[in-house]
Amino acid sequence: MVPIVFPLVADSVRFTSGFGDPRDGGKRRHQGQDLFCPRWTPILAAVSGTVDWIATSRPKKGKGYELLLRGDDGNLYFYAHLNNDDPGTRDNEAPPSYAYARGLNNGDRVSAGEIIGYVGDSGDAEAAGPHLHFEIHIGRWENPIDPAPSLRAALERRRRG
Ligand SMILES: [Zn+2]
Repeated sequence: MVPIVFPLVADSVRFTSGFGDPRDGGKRRHQGQDLFCPRWTPILAAVSGTVDWIATSRPKKGKGYELLLRGDDGNLYFYAHLNNDDPGTRDNEAPPSYAYARGLNNGDRVSAGEIIGYVGDSGDAEAAGPHLHFEIHIGRWENPIDPAPSLRAALERRRRG
């Protein structure tokens, strides 16, 4: 478990598919948690650090908007399925400015709790519906952990104020 800020503005969030669940008929495993909440829910930096993997143009068909937060704590935080729909539509055509916080660029520093993007259904989340796919990797990409305990603790801290 790592100390983080809950990565969404929403408090009542359903975690459904779990860490380690099989994907693609068992060819790969689900390395994170899926946090279901309304489209456009602001996504927050879980820790202070620098942002990476921000798309600078519309992703190729079927690919989604994603973000990697390189934490000052040495850990990596991966966010997927950011919004790709123009306001009031489901067109999958929105430019990066509707996926990420305004003006956010690769290499920018962010503080824990700062808005970095918006929930959507880009990539392979079209059928599941809008949600944030969130991963925590300890020290390096090869070390994913189940984010659920960290997420629950973060919600608890927020509720206590
Ligand atoms: Zn997921």
